[in-house]
Amino acid sequence: MARGCANWGRKLLKCDVAIVGAGPIGLLLGNLLGRRGLAVVIVEKQPKPYNLPRAVHFDGEAMRVFQAAGLAAEILPHTMVGRGMLFKDMNDVVVVDWSRDQNIGPMGWFESYRCHQPGVEETLRAGVDRFDRVTLIEGVAVSAITQDAESVTIDLSNGTQVQASYAIGADGANSFVRGALGIEVDDLGFREDWLVVDLILKQPRPDLGDYSVQFCDPVNSATYVRGVGDRRRWELRLPKDRVTNPDETEIWERLSRWITPKDAQLERDAVYTFRSCIAKNWRNGRVFLVGDAAHQMPPFMGQGMCAGIRDAANLAWKLAQAVQGGEDVLGTYESERAPHIRQFIDLTMALGRLINQTAAGKAPKGVMKSIWPELGPGLGARTGVGGALAPQVRVDGVLADDLARQGFYVLAAREVEADMPVIVGAQEWLAQHSVEAVVVRPDGYVLGAFG
Ligand SMILES: Cc1cc2nc3c(=O)[nH]c(=O)nc-3n(C[C@H](O)[C@H](O)[C@H](O)COP(=O)(O)OP(=O)(O)OC[C@H]3O[C@@H](n4cnc5c(N)ncnc54)[C@H](O)[C@@H]3O)c2cc1C
Repeated sequence: MARGCANWGRKLLKCDVAIVGAGPIGLLLGNLLGRRGLAVVIVEKQPKPYNLPRAVHFDGEAMRVFQAAGLAAEILPHTMVGRGMLFKDMNDVVVVDWSRDQNIGPMGWFESYRCHQPGVEETLRAGVDRFDRVTLIEGVAVSAITQDAESVTIDLSNGTQVQASYAIGADGANSFVRGALGIEVDDLGFREDWLVVDLILKQPRPDLGDYSVQFCDPVNSATYVRGVGDRRRWELRLPKDRVTNPDETEIWERLSRWITPKDAQLERDAVYTFRSCIAKNWRNGRVFLVGDAAHQMPPFMGQGMCAGIRDAANLAWKLAQAVQGGEDVLGTYESERAPHIRQFIDLTMALGRLINQTAAGKAPKGVMKSIWPELGPGLGARTGVGGALAPQVRVDGVLADDLARQGFYVLAAREVEADMPVIVGAQEWLAQHSVEAVVVRPDGYVLGAFG
């Protein structure tokens, strides 16, 4: 990989795909495209990685995408298997139990992973170094974007221009690309300020437990997250009429119910406004939005980054196909992804309401299960199992997506003839859906079924 710097002066770089923003989603997409042999330029305005406390969880489907990027083994050391989340009422009684399976699940990975986002980003950043045709330019902002029928041109603040067949706005919640294209955002109605505090334990505190805990309280709602290694996270809802951000003294006062400076040191703190919103369009001509630029949700389900990871997985093979002269199916990106993410946003907002209902003693008690929605309308039919996430089996210890080299394959109950790799397995899942075989797309979703 070539690494650029801020002082290149006026220069024109040409590539297949230009990515604005080297957060986790821009970097992941760069890796996925690099693996497919595309020429990619990623432009990041920050000179160094953004090191604030953010994602602490991703799911098994996200791990399957890291696998597709060829980086699963490198990501794993930054993770531990997630235990799940408990919702507790004001008397510390568990009212909702969202335990996660502790065995390898249908994705070929565990259902839930705790992670340290800077570690994940570091791995993704190192990952692009594997590709001679992927260039990361850091410390330079994108300041303009124009397009015609043939290409997109992005202007960099150092005078360089990048001309690409396609461009991607992976530039986060306040996306420059989204604004420059005049794309509006639908506000879905959630807005709360939360203080996020990351601590490093000085001594073991096994009593805090391995579950994440949502403490439901009308005034002081809080989330405890068991991080990787000695890391522990608290997220604390702030009052609406707050004037200033809490200082260190106030932070420790707020945490005193659970932990004191005797047991832990403050690593980082930040105040975030948690929002739920979705861009009205995810595409304008040759430019696509991914990740937080396209959608945001509060982190109660730990799904914001996961949603962006799914965007990257959905778009990567479609971009490669279009660039390499195959059928152009890029028109299905938004129609498949937007209804899918709406289900996560709606459930996340329902969890937000649950916190308040629990505090008021009105919440339903019980067990919560993870959701695996189908894609919205797009490629293939949406009848039966079409558009569902296919399981990933292992054959002689090798994961199916790797056997198929991240291409299309048939997952069948028994050997069949096909003009693509055939992988035999998942008989129980196929029988549940009353089919003999399915065609699995490079992003793991079912294109169609037979039998
Ligand atoms: C407190 C908190 C907890 C969270 N917990 C979870 C969780 O547990 N699980 C989960 O899945 N998600 C979680 N999320 C959400 C997750 O952090 C985000 O969804 C994710 O970081 C979005 O990644 P991104 O790459 O789309 O955007 P970002 O990470 O915001 O990256 C965008 C990048 O674009 C760059 N950029 C912006 N403008 C320009 C420009 N003009 N030119 C060049 N570069 C530019 C920025 O500098 C930045 O590096 C959490 C978020 C918060 C705030």
